[in-house]
Amino acid sequence: MLDTDSAADAVPDGVPAQTTTSAAYTGDRPAGGQAARHDVVSLDAPIRGRTLFPGDEGFEEACSGWLLTVEHRPAVVVVAADADDVAAAVRSAAEAGRPVAVQSTGHGKSVPADGAVFIATGELRELSVDPRAGTARIGAGLRLGEVLTAAAEHGLAPLCGSSGEVGVMGYLTGGGLPLACRTYGFAADHVRSLDIVTADGLLRTVSPTREPDLFWAVRGGKGNFGVVVAAEIELLPLRTVYGGELHYPGEDPRHAAHVLGSYLAWVKDQPEEMSSSVSLLRLPDAPQLPEGFRGRSFVQVRVVYTGDEERGARLVEPLRALGPEKDTCGAMPYTRITEIYPDPKNPVMVHLRSALLHGLDDEAVEELVSFIDPSTPEGPFPGIELRHLGGALNRPPGRPHAVSTQGAAFHLWMRMPAPAEQAADEVLGRLRRWDTGAMLPGFLFDHDSAPERVRRAYTEADYRRLAALKAEYDPDHLFRVNHSIPPFGSGERARS
Ligand SMILES: Cc1cc2nc3c(=O)[nH]c(=O)nc-3n(C[C@H](O)[C@H](O)[C@H](O)COP(=O)(O)OP(=O)(O)OC[C@H]3O[C@@H](n4cnc5c(N)ncnc54)[C@H](O)[C@@H]3O)c2cc1C
Repeated sequence: MLDTDSAADAVPDGVPAQTTTSAAYTGDRPAGGQAARHDVVSLDAPIRGRTLFPGDEGFEEACSGWLLTVEHRPAVVVVAADADDVAAAVRSAAEAGRPVAVQSTGHGKSVPADGAVFIATGELRELSVDPRAGTARIGAGLRLGEVLTAAAEHGLAPLCGSSGEVGVMGYLTGGGLPLACRTYGFAADHVRSLDIVTADGLLRTVSPTREPDLFWAVRGGKGNFGVVVAAEIELLPLRTVYGGELHYPGEDPRHAAHVLGSYLAWVKDQPEEMSSSVSLLRLPDAPQLPEGFRGRSFVQVRVVYTGDEERGARLVEPLRALGPEKDTCGAMPYTRITEIYPDPKNPVMVHLRSALLHGLDDEAVEELVSFIDPSTPEGPFPGIELRHLGGALNRPPGRPHAVSTQGAAFHLWMRMPAPAEQAADEVLGRLRRWDTGAMLPGFLFDHDSAPERVRRAYTEADYRRLAALKAEYDPDHLFRVNHSIPPFGSGERARS
């Protein structure tokens, strides 16, 4: 499988690694070392896990993570072994006046956790499946792929996104846009309850009947309301899907436009059981790439159909008629669903940007295709993905949450080799006419830490409700090392 990000990593050569500077927390405390030992060492309960200070063996590793564009220099890392450790770490941070950061895999880093009490959740590995109830209980240290494997033993399935390496809680608290999103809606719709340690150091179980406001806020509000230590989710009786990818040559702009335009026409007729995306890719002529890919451009369509194989094949027929040079579509076990997308497993130095778009017309096709036109000046090379939305995503969820596509037709996701902010800005600038201005909370990354960008991830009403709940549950803004929602009344006034 072609790993486009490692290709991107290869270019431009010799460019020094870029790291983001702290935007959310620039407290006057030193970043770590002895000061931290003094003021955070007063953990009010013995920690069963590990407490690591700068310089300790394992410190760097514990606070690194998948996205290399952000580096953390916390005051202390607490590698939590259980919920009590999390609660003790939160209480000691509050006493020391330091913010709390939480990280599982580092796939969704936002701002550096400089000077923070950094809670690493990787060792919270509870995982049990109740086949009769069709549910799973999941600890905060698990990745989606691990839940996928465990559930499959019972013929059941969680709603996965494109990568099995993503942490379950980061995904769920961001809403979770699954590959089968048009059939089943957001993964957050399928959460039954959450165990969360809030800023007062209390462990609460929240659900539609227990503290429903907090339950609503955490599913979408990401890390703003506390540290989720476990979740109970519904699983689906899904063993197989019809899915795969179709690759088309993209060097000839007229052909690329024909394929993209045909895909955009095709999605209009698709049932909710069909979820899909189209990617536009321009690869550098880099020796790290397999022959046959170097210096080439592609249009790639990926599909996940949750109905029967025969109908899936019939629905994909018009895409096949466009003459892909590679076609992997077919019936496949659901356990292999994350293989449809070539998400890299190893840490990468890449910028991630996203937007929610309206429906796309011929002019949008022309703009999009121009980014992979080999006759235009080289690099940096954008990887542009458009996921088709609608279907179940447009219906009110059974268990309301703070996530919404805000009526958008497509989700745009871009991956750029660092440093490539300018290239990302150019793409977004040229697509402005189709940009709704909204975003999904689960696809906010390091570029999106400013309050006005975080605000775009919510409807106005939801943002106001989140800020009010933040004032209730975290009035001192302890959980601010993230895509931060300041408590209402702390300078961030809700618009009237
Ligand atoms: C390669 C790749 C593919 C992806 N594909 C999809 C996809 O298909 N669908 C989709 O919806 N998203 C997708 N995402 C986005 C992903 O869901 C978010 O980046 C998510 O935040 C990653 O979670 P994490 O725990 O792995 O990351 P981390 O960097 O460890 O955490 C990111 C943030 O999540 C919050 N968080 C994490 N753990 C907890 C916790 N225990 N309690 C409270 N808050 C917590 C915090 O705010 C934290 O800062 C993808 C991301 C990548 C990089």
